[in-house]
Amino acid sequence: MKKVYLDNSATTKVSDEVISAMLPYFTEKYGNPSSLHTAGREAREAIEAARLKIAGIIGAAPAEIIFTSGGTESDNIAIIGSALANRKKGNHIITSAIEHPAVIETCRHLEKDGFKVTYVPVDPDGVLKLDELEKAITKETTLITVMQVNNEIGTIQPIKEIGEIAREKDIYFHTDAVQAIGKVPVNVDDLGVDMLALSGHKIHGPKGVGVLYLRKGTPVRSLTFGGGHERGVRSGTENVSGIVGMARACELAARDLDRNAEHMARLSNRLMDGLLGIEHCRLNGSRKNRSPNNVNISFSFVEGESMVLLLDMKGIEVSTGSACSSKKLEASHVLLSCGLDPETAHGSLRMTNSKYNTEEEIDYVIETLPGIVSRLREMSPLYKK
Ligand SMILES: *Cc1c(COP(=O)(O)O)cnc(C)c1O
Repeated sequence: MKKVYLDNSATTKVSDEVISAMLPYFTEKYGNPSSLHTAGREAREAIEAARLKIAGIIGAAPAEIIFTSGGTESDNIAIIGSALANRKKGNHIITSAIEHPAVIETCRHLEKDGFKVTYVPVDPDGVLKLDELEKAITKETTLITVMQVNNEIGTIQPIKEIGEIAREKDIYFHTDAVQAIGKVPVNVDDLGVDMLALSGHKIHGPKGVGVLYLRKGTPVRSLTFGGGHERGVRSGTENVSGIVGMARACELAARDLDRNAEHMARLSNRLMDGLLGIEHCRLNGSRKNRSPNNVNISFSFVEGESMVLLLDMKGIEVSTGSACSSKKLEASHVLLSCGLDPETAHGSLRMTNSKYNTEEEIDYVIETLPGIVSRLREMSPLYKK
């Protein structure tokens, strides 16, 4: 059976180049980077070379790069670490209504600890309302955290504008750029951010490794304690092979950014053009202002989960727009924030391509999906009405 993987915002295939860069750090160069002997020094050198590479790619200084266990941990350190370090100055945080759970749930956690959080609304395309953000700022505000590219609907946020506001008001600014790198340019000075989170496995790198960019002079409290690794911000023996793989993945993503973005956008446009003719469907997010690899469409009178399962039987792997929380099936907070009603939000599909997808694969989806949608609609009592 044909297999078409279109869930690259969930995770990606690790590229061969990344695997071969990582392998020696399992088999030969397995030293602990804190050890003084040759094996240890080899591992240390690999980490510092990776740090230098990633710093160069995002326009940072090497000392501003902290290696973590992934995007989630980077977001947690940035938000909790900064909130705690600045608690004496104020206890107010501003974020958007459509952040990834790694940010939203972290903010919710801080609310339980006495912090105040404003969740700034977005317009129907999912773009943060800048005027509402400005209105939300108080003397107590110490942190703004807004993602660069949304993981569900691909909307690109006005990070540079937010950065200017934050700087003018002397507020620290964090962005989750996990879905941005490899799809749009990511440069910490152009964006005007103090903190920025990246993850390896969303860019054809390994799982369990990430980066937190921490601008010089940005105070954060550490959340893990131990040997004082990563400038005391993140103790724990470094994931050497993962770090090497992440650096190689970033390098390839940056080197091929234009070519890959053009390829992904061509596939996305083909998919949108091929599917949006289906009756009673709508594109979620902005047609123009979106990540090149993201297509998110709601089909009325159909359940997203049913479409995912029937597509899977045809070898097509996608996800629902309504990423269900582990226990109850809740409609996506992102789609609801864009103004969709819960029923429509439940009938959403997210199809995210990568450099590895082909036009033939997209055409197979365009051939297959309409039949699945009509089959499910035939069974829906709502559709008949
Ligand atoms: C995947 C993702 C994360 C979490 O990254 P992990 O490395 O899986 O912890 C955070 N933010 C966004 C936008 C993501 O897409």
